[in-house]
This record gives sequence, C-alpha cells and structure tokens, in this order.
Amino acid sequence: MLQLPTFDDVAAAARRLQGHAHRTPVNRSTTANQLLGAEVFFKCENFQRMGAFKFRGAFNALSQFNAQQKSKGAIAFSSGNHAQAIALSARLLGMPAVILMPMDAPQSKIDATRGYGAEVILFDRYKEDREALTKKVAQQREMTLIPPFDHPDVIAGQGTAAMELIEEVGELDVLFVCLGGGGLLSGSALATRALSPRCQIYGVEPEAGNDAQQSMAKGEIVHIETPRTIADGAQTQHLGRYTFEVIRRDVTGILTATDEQLVEAMRFFAERMKMVVEPTGCLGFAAARHAGIDLAGKRVGVIISGGNVDLPRYAQLIGQGLA
Ligand SMILES: *Cc1c(COP(=O)(O)O)cnc(C)c1O
Repeated sequence: MLQLPTFDDVAAAARRLQGHAHRTPVNRSTTANQLLGAEVFFKCENFQRMGAFKFRGAFNALSQFNAQQKSKGAIAFSSGNHAQAIALSARLLGMPAVILMPMDAPQSKIDATRGYGAEVILFDRYKEDREALTKKVAQQREMTLIPPFDHPDVIAGQGTAAMELIEEVGELDVLFVCLGGGGLLSGSALATRALSPRCQIYGVEPEAGNDAQQSMAKGEIVHIETPRTIADGAQTQHLGRYTFEVIRRDVTGILTATDEQLVEAMRFFAERMKMVVEPTGCLGFAAARHAGIDLAGKRVGVIISGGNVDLPRYAQLIGQGLA
C-alpha cells in the first residue's frame, strides 16, 4: 500500500519553506473577471524563486535529508524547471547536486542549472536510457534521487501554493491547475480539500497529451508517447503512482487546452497583466476560458505555474503565434 501524503504534510512543508520560498502574489484582472463573468484570483508562481512552483517541492524534499544524504547530495534528471529547482535548493541547503540533462536541452537551461552550482551530466536521449543512467550515477556516488513529481515530499511542497492562495483570498468555488505528472495538482488537491472542501478542482493538460484524462476514464495509469505541444512542462507520458491515487480521489475532473489557446493566454498575460508566463503556465487560464465549465458569478482560482521561456521563442509565440 502506498502511504499517500496528507494535508498535514502540506502544512509541514509550508513551515519548512518559510523564509526560503517566496510567498508569491495573487494578482487580479478586471478584464479576466469580465471575460469569465467571475471573480478570478491568479496565484503567480511565475514569480517564485527560479521562476516556477517546482522550487517548493524540491526544497521541501531536500530539507528533510539526513546527515548522510546531505553529505552525498541530490540527483535528478530533467531538462526543465525541476533541474533548476533541485540545483538551487541544494545550493541553499549546502549540499552537492547532479542533474542529468539531454544533450539537446536548451543551452539557457543548461547554463541556468550550472549557474546554481549543480554539476550537469549530458546524455544522448536517443541512445541512452536516462533512468538507468541516473540510477547508475546515483549508486556510484551514493546520491539521493528526487523525481520531478512522484514523491510524497515533492507533492506536499507543491501543495503550498494552493494553500497560500486559499489562506489569502478565502474559499473558492473552482480551482484550475496546470497538469503534467500531477505533482502540482495532487498537492493542490490536498490543500484545497482541507481548506475549501466544496471547491471543484480541475487539472488541465495539453490536448495533444491527455494521458491523465484517459487514466481517470480507465481507472488505471495510461502511458502515451511524448506529446507534441508547446507546453514543454507538461510533456509527461504518464501520471505517477502517488499522483494518480490522490488525483483519482480528490480531483473533480481533467480538462485539456490546445496550443492555440495557450498562445492566446500568453498574450493575455503579457498585454493585460504585464506578466511573462511560459506556455505550460497558461493551461489553467486557457481551460477556464474555453473548457465550458460554468463559472458565472463564482470565485475562481487559477494557478500560473511558471514563467521560464526562452525570449526568442516567447517573442515568436507572442508575435507570430504557432506559425
Ligand atoms: C513541472 C511543471 C508543470 C507540471 O507539473 P506536474 O507536477 O508535473 O504536474 C507545470 N508547469 C510548469 C511551469 C512546470 O515546470
């Protein structure tokens, strides 16, 4: 039996993060309220340290290492925000970190991860099995592997964003959460079920990769090919064992958004709210606008998950769209 994380774990994570993570702002927009006919509260994790909510889960996990684990350090594989989250958390906690990244990861991400002091090991994603490689390095160096979503301490840390949101604005009727492997969604669900029990909770994944939707329908974890979408933070192939169980128990439903809708939301955030939001961070708002959920007169929370996007890519999407 899996020991699922609980709201108490989220509350404990919030205490560990105090003074280390930013308490991100909750922003509002009259135009968004008018568009949705609702009162909308945006929890802006694009303003979190290293630019995404992933700092919360990584720091919560690493700060619980024992002395032996701390001396050897943490290892992770990621080409995205989890890499930077582990690297920064390790530096703040004074421990070594190794990140395995594909050779063709954006140079800006490799540089950022090195910039936080982590050792980056590059591998060929077409020739090498990254999981086997990570395990090998972890064993050789006696480092502790922290996965990007399927870990109770990671899930509990991610839940602190929704916890802060509800503490700040009060109970919500509906909450929209970006969804990849489900760490953010399951943590958000733990917080919301405890603090705003009647709130409907929706996870939002890219339409091109709706494995979570399929998994809920089938009652088991469905695996898919890596989806083609601009939402690079949600190109996961399947939910985790922990995240699947929490989502199945506590989440109202899974929605999807198209790449066109993500671009529209990126433009909205830039133009109306003066915020740089990465494509994956737009999933929640895109679904709030387009997925057909009745929001009239309701109090709606939207978690904006991150703001890390290469500027040339950002300019292209904002300027020319997907063409
Ligand atoms: C990782 C990530 C997600 C998806 O989070 P999961 O916990 O894997 O569901 C969404 N948005 C951003 C910006 C991310 O970095």
